[in-house]
This record gives sequence, C-alpha cells and structure tokens, in this order.
Amino acid sequence: MLQQLFAPVIDLVYPPCCPTCGEGIAQHGALCQDCWSELVIPGEPQCASCQRPFGNEQVPEGAICAPCLADPPRHAGIHAATLYTDGARSLVLAFKHGHRIALAGLLARLMLARLPVLEGDWLVVPVPLHRRRLWQRGFNQSALLGREIVRVRRHGLLVDGLLRLRATPPLGELGRRERAKVMKGAIVANPRRAGQIAGAQVLLVDDVMTSGATTNACVDALLKAGAAKVRIACFSRVLDEAL
Ligand SMILES: [Zn+2]
Ligand SMILES: [Zn+2]
Repeated sequence: MLQQLFAPVIDLVYPPCCPTCGEGIAQHGALCQDCWSELVIPGEPQCASCQRPFGNEQVPEGAICAPCLADPPRHAGIHAATLYTDGARSLVLAFKHGHRIALAGLLARLMLARLPVLEGDWLVVPVPLHRRRLWQRGFNQSALLGREIVRVRRHGLLVDGLLRLRATPPLGELGRRERAKVMKGAIVANPRRAGQIAGAQVLLVDDVMTSGATTNACVDALLKAGAAKVRIACFSRVLDEAL
C-alpha cells in the first residue's frame, strides 16, 4: 500500500531497470523482455519421481528417469522454477549480489508458479549456509525465498531447521561419490527444532540445485530427525546428465 503510494517518487529516484541487464523497464521487480525470454521453464513430460524433464522423448505416463531408477531418491519430488541456463544464472547472481529485495519476490513468484498446491500442514525449511558464509553475505538467499513463499502459501517457516556444521568446498569439481563424502555430516537438523521437524511435511527451499549432493544431505538430515516427507522447491535446477 505504502509502496504504491510512494512508487512515483521511488521511480523518479531509481528508474526501474532490469536487475539482470540494466535495461530500462516499466515497473520495479520485473525483468526486461529479453531476460524473460532467456529463462527456461522445465516442461512436460517429466519424471514422476523427481520431475526431471524428458525433453522431446516419448515416455509413458508415470515414467521414472534413469538417475532415479539407479538411485531411488529419498525426497518426495523436486519443483524447479527454471533450468539453470545463462539467463537463470545471471538472475541468481543479481539476487545474491545486491538486488535481493526486489528479486526475492520475483524469484519466489516463479517458484510458486511451478509448485503444486500442497495439502495439509507443511513446514518451509531453507538449505542452510555455514555461519561464516552467512556472515560474509549477510543473508541466506534460500531463507529469503522461503519467507516469500510462506507469505503466499501460509505454510510454517523454520529458517533454522537445518544447520550447516562445516563449510564445504565447491562441489563442482568432484565426482558423485566424493561430493556425498564431503557432505557427510556437514548438515544436521537443528536439535532445538526437533519437536517441530518430527512428523512434519517439509518443503526444502534452495536457490540453485546443482548436483543434488547438498539437497540430499538436507533431505537425509530432515528424515533422520523424523520428518514425514520432504519435497524440494528450487529456483533453478542443473540437470546433471553431464556430471
Ligand atoms: Zn534484462
Ligand atoms: Zn527422476
């Protein structure tokens, strides 16, 4: 309300521009036409287990992708707003490096568009940052997205449901086994939140889901703490065929 009232003043001081490329646009909190068109929304058909898009393949209803068949996931589904293309990457970088207030809402809206209505009580838990990283950046980007999501969906929010005990090196260079090894014991459920996690349906929120090693560690920690099931919502998902 107040924001609308002052919108003309704000626009005069900071003319709305695309947070990714800087192009002038009509309204704050949006993207320019070009940057929109660079986002790729994962399409159907998709894996019934992890929602990985099959592309143009002809697959029967309820088909499961090869990675899920090889290693059945412990999560109850992955809902990604976008695939991790250059466009999504620029947007995430802009979000982490300054435009967080405008972009948290936009990114969360895109995530909500892909997130089915979840029946019953759900608890939103962000992927945790190590406290040193949190201190450097000043905010946990996944927690900001989680906060925007609960504004719309009215789920519970538990920003400190998970703790990252160890800072972990970038996982990009590592193979699947090594990544799992590095993540082992790095993330645990917060013992002070045990009562809330036990028996809860949890929506784990991540900004970019890369190899799945981090989210798997989170899912394991939540299930170990007694969560009934864990779904994952992320803004962008790297399809790991190449990994
Ligand atoms: Zn743009
Ligand atoms: Zn799958």
